[in-house]
Amino acid sequence: MAREIGTRCIHLDEEDGKNHYGAVSYPIYQTATFAHPGVGQSTGYDYSRVQNPTREQLEKVVASMENGTDALALSSGMAAIALMMELFSPGDHLIVDADLYGGSIRLFEQISKKNGISFTSIDCCCEEIESRIRENTKAVYIETPTNPMMHVTDIAKMAAAAKRHGLLLIVDNTFLSPYFQNPLDLGADLVVHSGTKYLGGHNDALAGFLVTNQAEISERLRFFYKTTGAVLAPFDSWLILRGIKTLGVRMERAQENAMAIAEWLKGQKIVTDVIYPGLPEHPGHALMKRQARGFGAMLTFRLASKEAALAVLGKVRLIQYAESLGGVETLITYPATQTHADVPKDVREKNGITESTLRMSVGIEDKRDLLAELERVFCELNSDTEKGTKDGGEKS
Ligand SMILES: *Cc1c(COP(=O)(O)O)cnc(C)c1O
Repeated sequence: MAREIGTRCIHLDEEDGKNHYGAVSYPIYQTATFAHPGVGQSTGYDYSRVQNPTREQLEKVVASMENGTDALALSSGMAAIALMMELFSPGDHLIVDADLYGGSIRLFEQISKKNGISFTSIDCCCEEIESRIRENTKAVYIETPTNPMMHVTDIAKMAAAAKRHGLLLIVDNTFLSPYFQNPLDLGADLVVHSGTKYLGGHNDALAGFLVTNQAEISERLRFFYKTTGAVLAPFDSWLILRGIKTLGVRMERAQENAMAIAEWLKGQKIVTDVIYPGLPEHPGHALMKRQARGFGAMLTFRLASKEAALAVLGKVRLIQYAESLGGVETLITYPATQTHADVPKDVREKNGITESTLRMSVGIEDKRDLLAELERVFCELNSDTEKGTKDGGEKS
């Protein structure tokens, strides 16, 4: 029987058969090339763009956690998504979720389009794909929950629809990590990860992954991979391997903190919306309970005004104002000018990313300190607002 996911973060079911002097931490093979024992012979490793033992170990761990047969480790999440796009040719059409990571939208709009690929954006959580499928449609690309609006798409239902029409279903699983959700089990063909986020977990290395359970897709991707070369370096592979060992405890703790913060934010007068799928009133709550093992630790909230949102960013100290997510540190960001700055304003507003929207990646600090920090920030905010009203409503 396969071991539980929390154990698979730490141990492969099958070790690689090499002893490595009994090393418990997988060694870093910091070498670009490998010598051949003789003419026509190979150790199994020739050149690190194609294979490297440390990277291979990481790829096996990620494949195992996603229940895939192959995982490719790349130098960043965007490198993974750019490589994924090599599966398509000029003239192809993709249906993509309207609310995606800003960098994915930028890649599709500003690079893939130039290469002759066209896109239709829809709200995959709530719209049917059928009427959007064209003769040249090849794939559906989604995130669930989405970034930053936390829409939840039914992966199994979407996979069934894609299959009926011969389309690939590609899921960016960065937000939940394989610890909480496994899209391949629900019928997806390809899973994307920014390993920079929860898998690495320490805001100290960039990485990306493509994971599949189909030999034909894996073979095509492996060819693009060795040919284009955005592979993950041995040392960074080791950092991500090390990060993954604590993925389970980090995800559980971050989720517990996120739930407490979501509940706390709900009690604040100046907060108009709290969007966290762990809250029972979230429209995707029941679906996520069925298709995932957790709700994650990303939450989005809106304040009464743009000024209040910017004031929060100016007042935080323990919580840092920074892009990115999924690390041990709690970070807060302003999607309108940061993660989603390159998304056209009308698209942004249509998706609900207003100028009073903030996104928080909840870390694993002691939640009492996170809540104390928020108490202080909101207390200052409320007294500023009162003062502002007394001074004749002047904005500070
Ligand atoms: C960060 C992120 C990416 C891009 O990954 P990088 O490692 O920053 O290149 C892709 N998708 C999602 C959902 C992300 O959060």
